[in-house]
Amino acid sequence: MTFEQLDLIAPILKAIQDKGYTTPTPIQSQAITPILAGRDILGCAQTGTGKTAAFAIPILQTLYKQKQAGHRSEKIKALIITPTRELAIQIGESFTAYGQGLGFRNTVLFGGVTQHGQTRKLRHGVDILIATPGRLLDLMNQGFVDLQGLTTFTLDEADRMLDMGFIHDIKKIIKKLPPKRQSLFFSATMPPSIVKLSQSLLTDPVRIDIAPQSTTAETVTQKLYLVERKDKKALLVHMLQDIARIPSALVFTRTKHGADKVAKFINASGIGAEAIHGNKSQNARQKALQNFKSNKTRVLVATDIAARGIDIKELSHVINFEIPNEPETYVHRIGRTGRAENSGIALSFCDREEVNYIHDIHKLINRQIPIENEHPFATDYIPPKRKKPTYQGPRNRGQAPRQKQRRRSWSKRR
Ligand code: AMP
Repeated sequence: MTFEQLDLIAPILKAIQDKGYTTPTPIQSQAITPILAGRDILGCAQTGTGKTAAFAIPILQTLYKQKQAGHRSEKIKALIITPTRELAIQIGESFTAYGQGLGFRNTVLFGGVTQHGQTRKLRHGVDILIATPGRLLDLMNQGFVDLQGLTTFTLDEADRMLDMGFIHDIKKIIKKLPPKRQSLFFSATMPPSIVKLSQSLLTDPVRIDIAPQSTTAETVTQKLYLVERKDKKALLVHMLQDIARIPSALVFTRTKHGADKVAKFINASGIGAEAIHGNKSQNARQKALQNFKSNKTRVLVATDIAARGIDIKELSHVINFEIPNEPETYVHRIGRTGRAENSGIALSFCDREEVNYIHDIHKLINRQIPIENEHPFATDYIPPKRKKPTYQGPRNRGQAPRQKQRRRSWSKRR
């Protein structure tokens, strides 16, 4: 399939060409035609599959055709809700890139900054609004956002919205949308709570499944490093010293404090690193991200929420300095590399305390991450096989059995 076969208008085809895309990704070839036909979409797709273009392109084309047909309005026509500021900014950039020459104005709303710049743009008129839920609801309540002219609503990364506690805000926003509209719903995973939310929103949707639920991309090579906790820093520096092997890396920690600590000791060893997390100002986060994207800094240390959806072209390595306690998070983390058919490498540093998290991940991705022993800090312990799995899905899993289980397997080893 080619983009030409998708019946796209010339300015969009040109924008796609300018971006250097030659063929549509699977979600693009499956979603663009039904969206152009006005259908609702339930899309199950991982980050990195090209889903932003899969909705942005047909939204732009539909608006353009409406404008050509004489439907002119100053009101907001398309609304896209997404969980994080970084994602909102990236989606805004995509609309600008694909919509070159079409004459639509898009604006991005997110919290953590003053609202004046955002309300000024809203007053001047916006065709396409991209927003995080909290700030959108806030500005709606203050009367700055009029959604009565809305024709298309997109909910992006729905599972993450739920995880981040945005569900009530989302429901409040949905209540205020005009009932006659097209709705597009995207989520990386489809647990029952997400299916329920989608049912409340969509009418006779076309369902598109790009990656089976919670699988890791085939383009990512995964490796497991068994290492004592005290040796993790030294192992990280040892790995990063080989510039030829690891030209750039996104390093994940579980906590904001951990991200700062890791960035500090990498810097102390003479390797450029910056940290991004929710405690940093929006400007500091954007600056760190820009430095990393332009190869000014080699290593970006991030927490999960700060890194969700970050689009870094040709990121070669993701390093899990700490193993996430939610197995789905592992899938999202390593989805930062190997995007859109590039290959990538995901390295995970696992200490004894984290072995059960690895078991949960193996169960979710339905394969064992190969162990890498060729490094100076390899330990001889083998992750014990757990007899009774504690993983019961993201919603109903309690902390207590996991901790009990972890202590048991550790004491058994001693
Ligand atoms: P997304 O899943 O929307 O975050 O997109 C992931 C990455 O794939 C982004 O860097 C896009 O610029 C890129 N991308 C989107 N569509 C294509 C395509 N058809 N061919 C190559 N790269 C693409």
